Amino acid sequence: MRIALYPGSFDPVHYGHLDIIERVATLFDEVIVAVAVNPRKKPLFTTEERIDMLRSTTSKYSNIHIESFDGLTVNFALKKRAQVIIRGLRAITDFENEFVFALTNKKLASELETLYLMTRAEYSFISSNIVKEVAYYGGCVSEMVPPIVARELSKKFIK
Ligand code: ADP
Repeated sequence: MRIALYPGSFDPVHYGHLDIIERVATLFDEVIVAVAVNPRKKPLFTTEERIDMLRSTTSKYSNIHIESFDGLTVNFALKKRAQVIIRGLRAITDFENEFVFALTNKKLASELETLYLMTRAEYSFISSNIVKEVAYYGGCVSEMVPPIVARELSKKFIK
């Protein structure tokens, strides 16, 4: 059983994330999308809301499971018996952080591999931060997130 863990904040999930998730689902038997609970960050959406949006937008795939975790990603990956941690790369700006992430994980758990998938060109500009920024100012996010996420964003930003 080849299991991949895809960790992130997903605050909220957007088309860039979903593209990575769907591509990974064709390569592995099981994909665990892991919503990070980080007490040092202040997300817009609660952990449950982020999980619900991920579940609704990935429900057509039987090998994708959504869970939350706290603590070190490698510990959660080992607990779930994943062999691979998946990350997405958008631009050179992602590279530096991801380089450190991958090398640190290798030091902590040498049996795990961190695997990078390049963003699809049309999604390369999307981040959860830019989605929230556009939604906050009432802009259209329909090219960035599925309709259900757009609805949840508008509920948060009703003035
Ligand atoms: P964001 O950067 O949008 O806030 P996260 O912190 O939740 O997203 O990132 C989770 C993972 O998804 C990271 O590996 C990140 O590089 C990747 N990712 C985020 N946005 C995109 C995108 N547009 N295309 C491909 N991968 C992405």
